[in-house]
Amino acid sequence: MDLLIEGGTIVPCTPGGESFPGDVLVEDGALRALGPGAREARRGPVRVLDARGCAVLPGLVHAHVHLCQTLFRGMADDLPLLDWLRTRIWPLEAAHDPESLRASADLGLVELLKGGGTTLLDMGTVHHHDAVFEALRDCGVRAFSGKAMMDVGAGVPRGLREGLRASLATSDTLRARWDEAEGGRLRYAFAPRFILSCTKKLLQETVSLARAHGCLLHTHAAEHPGERDAVRALHGKDDVDALAELGLQGPDTILAHGVQLTLAQMRAAAKAGTRVVHCPSANLKLGSGVARVSALRKAGVVVGLGADGAACNNNLDLFVELRHAALLAKGGGNTRALPAREALSLATLDGARALGIDHLVGSLEPGKRADVVVVDLTGAHTEPWGGPVERVVYAAQARDVKHVVVNGRVLVKDRALTTMDEERVVARAREEAVKVQARAGLRG
Ligand SMILES: [Zn+2]
Repeated sequence: MDLLIEGGTIVPCTPGGESFPGDVLVEDGALRALGPGAREARRGPVRVLDARGCAVLPGLVHAHVHLCQTLFRGMADDLPLLDWLRTRIWPLEAAHDPESLRASADLGLVELLKGGGTTLLDMGTVHHHDAVFEALRDCGVRAFSGKAMMDVGAGVPRGLREGLRASLATSDTLRARWDEAEGGRLRYAFAPRFILSCTKKLLQETVSLARAHGCLLHTHAAEHPGERDAVRALHGKDDVDALAELGLQGPDTILAHGVQLTLAQMRAAAKAGTRVVHCPSANLKLGSGVARVSALRKAGVVVGLGADGAACNNNLDLFVELRHAALLAKGGGNTRALPAREALSLATLDGARALGIDHLVGSLEPGKRADVVVVDLTGAHTEPWGGPVERVVYAAQARDVKHVVVNGRVLVKDRALTTMDEERVVARAREEAVKVQARAGLRG
């Protein structure tokens, strides 16, 4: 049935677009009309979602996440990036089986959806990646995902190391099975993990494979100073420069982090059209530093926003990332840096641009797909005053998300999930977390 989101303040997130009161009419999964006259445009009976006292926003875009790591929340704290990977995350990922991976993805998706996430770009682990796509299929979110590719690297456990041919073949099999599945709601994104885990040949062949099928390329780059030094020792240059030489640049290439980028590298990324995803909480927690988002944007780079994984954040909450992004940009003393409206764009229209789907989602405009989040602004922590954008960026929290709609389908209604059993997901996650830790030999 068609949908009327009634009585909210519409925050369109279009360039220069101002907020206005009114209703949102959704027909056949698309936005048909917005504003005071929207209800009159309905052609038949509609299901009504109450948005009084709420901001009505485009669904939030998580442009970098690892659903495979949600189960590892709390198992890998207070470590720098390479130690974090080698002593905890890689052994834990190697210990995943399809059941623990599904439990991990489901736990992450509960949090993502209840926090207003409607689109995500996910990087998986090396094996069993069908389990993640099955979770994405069942919950109704819009997603790009791909298995991690790793054919070399110091400290990579046997369970994650794969041959070049096997890595390409497994990735391509997953692509054939899942790319454009569910009417195009699911897309495959090739995910060479980072330059230290991939041979040059694997990177080059992955670029060819992804471009042959019109898929995104998703990797990590310029994250941590220690990693930067290891990359320089091995390649004699920075990862972004080496990746660009191998073809990993352009509008279909999404680099998570970009903390260590020089101004010249930012300009080169902008010229090529390469996308960068800001992950402020994860960068702070792993001691990587703070990405210079204002400089990236000024250089002309399209920047998205991501929570990264629950093992390095430890939440998957874009409201926290929005607040961190906006505050960290001002940390140098310029309070005009990344104003609330621009910060919100990282999680909406710019996030969609980063993933190349801004013609479909990222703003509220008639004709776009109906990915909508309704945020309750009547809580004591968001009252009594302020523009809806400022209240969302600086004061609102994930628990204020009241309704979530993806492709016209209501996935969260009155703060409750409609496609997932939250209690069961959490109970299963607890069971599988104990088992995966034991298999990884990390208990006791
Ligand atoms: Zn990551």
